[in-house]
Amino acid sequence: MSFPAFRSRRLRRTEALRRLSQEVELSPRHLIAPLFVKEGIPEPVPIPSLPGQVQHTRSSLVEEVGELVELGVGGVILFGIPARKDAVGSGAWDDEGVVQRALRALRSEFGDRAVLMADLCLCEYTDHGHCGVLAEGPDTVDNDRTLELYGRIAASQARAGADVIAPSGVMDGQVAAIRRALDGAGFSQVVILSYAAKFASTFYGPFRDAAESAPRFGHRRAYQLAPANLRAALRRVEEELAEGADAVMVKPALPYLDVVRAVRERWQVPVAAYCVSGEYAMLHAAAQRGWLDLESAMMEVLLAIRRAGADWILTYFAKDAAWLLR
Ligand SMILES: [Zn+2]
Repeated sequence: MSFPAFRSRRLRRTEALRRLSQEVELSPRHLIAPLFVKEGIPEPVPIPSLPGQVQHTRSSLVEEVGELVELGVGGVILFGIPARKDAVGSGAWDDEGVVQRALRALRSEFGDRAVLMADLCLCEYTDHGHCGVLAEGPDTVDNDRTLELYGRIAASQARAGADVIAPSGVMDGQVAAIRRALDGAGFSQVVILSYAAKFASTFYGPFRDAAESAPRFGHRRAYQLAPANLRAALRRVEEELAEGADAVMVKPALPYLDVVRAVRERWQVPVAAYCVSGEYAMLHAAAQRGWLDLESAMMEVLLAIRRAGADWILTYFAKDAAWLLR
């Protein structure tokens, strides 16, 4: 036998052979578009650190979701920016709140053709920018008092038509509290996608501009996970699945693909990965300087997240990628 016997290049010789040999697929249905909707603006407002993304009005949001549905994108997840904030974030569970009104508008426009997800947190609604109500003492969020408010938000978002509630505040016991509130309000069919493995990341920077949710003081390291800790992340995933999460998320995506893989291998639920604002901004910045080709870098990143084991990818690239994949 001539050397070498194994020639991997045989399967890569033609475009057709390469297509036949492709192991994972990326299609529009895998993508979930994060969208911002802001109260009290007459026109959509561009977000400078997220090129191509805007804070939507309710009508521009409906238009955008129409295009995404047309392109076959799997779903959208809404973040609301209220006109007024207060110490407890009461705008978050107001049935006339910015997200609730947006959900009702989208549901009446698209019926069940669109999967509508609602991010559930308080940081966009509190005047201090933390994800829960403050406890006595510096930099601390009162976990257990916050849970009661999360339950109220979940019921309100479900009443407004959310298919999926996605708690992102990383409070202990949040999934159980939300499941109880949903079931108690007659929404046992509503899905919980928990941000179970959410790391305290620098890559969230541009999002905080977009959602106007940067903490006024302190940081979120007391509740979000430490970047070094895989085992701690798996422990949270285990706990939130036991509390009744239907699907779990790893956030951010690219710096945490090992976490995506580990979660994929251990549990049989849908795994989502959130390719966050900093990951998006970084590719755009490099492309603007001519250092990277944006389209091919975007597709490579999204395919890599799929290969790591994500079923769903939350990404600001959802529309552009779906357009290329159509
Ligand atoms: Zn938050």
